[in-house]
This record gives sequence, C-alpha cells and structure tokens, in this order.
Amino acid sequence: MEFEPVIGLEIHAQLKTKSKIFSPESTEFGGSPNSHVSPICLGLPGVLPVLNKEVLELAFKAAIALNCELHPRSRFARKNYFYPDLPKGYQISQYEEPFSTGGWVEIGTNGSTKKINLTRIHMEEDAGKLIHENHGNSSFVDLNRAGVPLVEIVSEPEIASAEEAVEYMKKIRSILRYIGVCDGNMEEGSLRCDANVSLRPKGSDKLGTKAEIKNVNSFRYVQKAIEYEIKRQIISLENGEEIVQETRLFDSNKGVTFSMRSKEEAHDYRYFPDPDLLPVVIEEAQIQKIRNSLPELPDQKLARFIEEYTLPEYDAGVLTSTIEIANYFEDCLKTHNNPKIVSNWIMTEVLRELKEEDDDIESFPISPDKLGELLNLIGDGTISGKIAKEVFEDMLSSGKTANQIVEEKGMTQISDQSELENVISQILANHPGEISRYKAGDQKLMGFFVGQVMKETKGKANPKIVNEILRKGLSD
Ligand code: ADP
Ligand code: MG
Repeated sequence: MEFEPVIGLEIHAQLKTKSKIFSPESTEFGGSPNSHVSPICLGLPGVLPVLNKEVLELAFKAAIALNCELHPRSRFARKNYFYPDLPKGYQISQYEEPFSTGGWVEIGTNGSTKKINLTRIHMEEDAGKLIHENHGNSSFVDLNRAGVPLVEIVSEPEIASAEEAVEYMKKIRSILRYIGVCDGNMEEGSLRCDANVSLRPKGSDKLGTKAEIKNVNSFRYVQKAIEYEIKRQIISLENGEEIVQETRLFDSNKGVTFSMRSKEEAHDYRYFPDPDLLPVVIEEAQIQKIRNSLPELPDQKLARFIEEYTLPEYDAGVLTSTIEIANYFEDCLKTHNNPKIVSNWIMTEVLRELKEEDDDIESFPISPDKLGELLNLIGDGTISGKIAKEVFEDMLSSGKTANQIVEEKGMTQISDQSELENVISQILANHPGEISRYKAGDQKLMGFFVGQVMKETKGKANPKIVNEILRKGLSD
C-alpha cells in the first residue's frame, strides 16, 4: 500500500516587546541566568499579572497579516502541568476563547502555489529553560524566558511533505519579520515549532494517528525530523504495527526522533479561565489603527517588484526575502535607475559579501546611494563592469565613494577611439603568427587579443570599442 504524509505545525513565535507579557522585566536574550525575573513571573503568592498592551497589538498585527478572523473579545486560560521550568505550575495561554481563528498563507511548492489554512492563533507566555549541560548530575533552571510573550500559530493538517513544512515555516517567519512582530531568530528560540506527523493510505481523507515532534528550532531540523518521522512510520505500518499517539523529540546529532511520552502519559491540562486576568477586549477603532499600520507584505511586494521593475520572479524573490533587502534595493534605485542592474549587483556582490561577513544589510558599509553612484559610473561608460568590481572591493575596505576611488586611482575607462587604435595596432604588429592562425579560422584567438589589450591598458579599455577595432583590424 502507498502512504501519504499529513503534517500540521504549531509554531511558537516570540513577540518583539521590551518587557514580558504580564510583568515589567526585560525580554532581552542572553542576560545572566535568572536576572530577568520578578515575583510575578515566578508566580509568588499575592501577585497579579497585567497584560502588556504591546503584546495585544503585535498579536493582532500577526493575525491580520495571516488573514485570520479576529475576535475582539478573548480570554486567557491556565494550562496546568508540573515541570521545573514552569514556576507557577501553570502556563497562561488561551484555550476556548482565542483572539483569532482561521486564516491562511500561500506557499510555493515546485512551481505552483498552495494555500495552507490556519486553525487559530493565540497568545501565551513562554516557560523557562532547563540547563542539563556542564553541571554533572545536576540540572539548572534559568527563568529569564518565563513570561516572555509568544503567539502560537496552529496550522490545519494540510501540509504534505517535509519541504512544504519548511516552506510554510519560512513564509510565516518572513511575514512576521516584515511586520516587525517577531525577530525570527531561531537560534535564540524566537521561532520554533512542534511538528505533528501522521500517515494515511494515499488518497484517503481520514487522518491517521499522529506523533508530535516537540520544539524543533531550525529549518534544517524541521526537514530532517519530519523526513525521519515519515520513514519511521512507513516502516512500522509496513510491518503491520500500529502507530502510537505520542510526543517525540528530535536528536539532531543522530538525525532521529525518539519517544518522550505516549498518550497514556499525556498531561491532562485542566484548562480553566485565569481568574486573575480580565477578558481581553479590543475596540474596532484600535483594530483599524493596527490594520492601517501594516506595511506591504512579502507576496504583495514580490508581485509589485515583478510588475513595476519588470524583474524576473527569481530576482524579485531574492530581493523581497527580507524587508531590509527590499528597502535597500528601492533606495538604490533612487540613485541608479536600471532595476535589473541594481538587482544583479545586490544578488551577487552585496549578498555574497553579507554572507561572508555574516552581516545584515542595514549595517552594510556601502549604503544604497553609494552603490547607485558606482552603478552610474558603469552606466555612463566611465568604468567597465570589471573595474567596477575592483572599485566595489575598495569601497568596502576604504569606505571611500566610487567617484573618489576612480579619480584617485585613474581607473577611468579608455573609450578614446584613437588611443585604443594605437594600442591595438602595436599589439597586432607584435603577433603576426596569431593573426594568421586567426585568419585561418581559429576564432578563439579573439579572446587572446582582447586579453592583450586589457593587459596593456590595465583593464581600463572599453571592451565594446576594443572588440570593434580588433574585428576590423583582423579582417583587413
Ligand atoms: P493536540 O490536541 O494533540 O494538540 P490538535 O488537534 O490541537 O492536537 O492539533 C495540533 C496540531 O496537530 C495542529 O497543527 C493539527 O493540524 C495537527 N494535527 C492534528 N491531527 C493530525 C494528524 N492526524 N496528522 C497530522 N497532524 C495533525
Ligand atoms: Mg499540541
């Protein structure tokens, strides 16, 4: 029998607030352990949580951008379980009355697009972190993350492969980053997911029993964990075994998933409305304000870049992959008006450099207007594309402008007809042998002659004019 995978993701995204969801401590990553804690997030007796207004705004922003149905009135609930990283003994989350349901995103899958529907988004607080390394047999607890605001974005079980799951997660990340709701930093845990995986006979519309892989925190691991899990379940089914509903973990060193707990050991969370928090009510006018504050989203920008700048879809995809790159591109166009040239330079030189330096484009030493100025020098024939790459390197190391560098180093392209004719006739006179071979049909020697001219002019000869003169000279 042939099986098909069915996957649903629960993505946890940290909202980009300064302080926690119900208390004033910092959410900043990397503080020394337990330095961002207070009686509120520790759940000491007698304290009362108060909802951070910013959380509500960011959560609604996310829901609007993800096409969700908004619920102006929602409620926080307590999810009760015991674990050492959860100081209160319950997590404040939303359960029966989330602030948003439904919604969808579109993903690209081998050439076409597919809509993935969402079940819901709700707000909740993060738990702390257990540290098992470096302390012998002891485990340590860092509660800096406890009470950090999250949205949980739950998808319908409509994802059909590991690749689609990665595309889906990338799309969610891209949108959340565009709208400034989440920094998307997966290494720091700002974005992670639980992947639910099941199999069913191909073409069936009944869901099979799922396994949930907890807390996967990179695209690579999402891919690998799901691929492994699909294989594991196929083997079980082919052996006539039943899949048990369970929670599993991914071991990234071994590339395998392993059981953490089965359904029998599953928690009964005993959800109930949190009596310490009022229902959340947001006015229509405020929702409208949030809606109006949303920037152009990735898909819209992509479509516009293709249309307005007549760029290939590939280019538009790269340029709109983050809002910062898109802004850099459009800022560059304010100085240099050929979109395809700007696109080529960003996609090759700029992005390569950023990758090598592990830098982001906002702190890139060559500002968009400076890159535009360099491209103008190619456009008006002052320098060749080849020289421009040297100038680019120089701009990076010296911080000087393209004009300065070209002037100081005398790099201006030689386009003067008679000057180039002089150089070329000299070269031709010195290579009678090559000339006769060329005339006898060895066309490849054209490259040799151009190379000689470039050597003689230190790369400054205008290649178009050189080619014209050479062709004429060699056909005489
Ligand atoms: P749970 O109660 O175990 O958390 P939910 O029904 O709330 O399960 O679903 C959690 C996630 O699991 C959702 O993203 C959903 O799409 C996905 N899911 C549910 N059933 C299946 C299944 N049979 N196969 C794959 N994914 C599933
Ligand atoms: Mg779940």
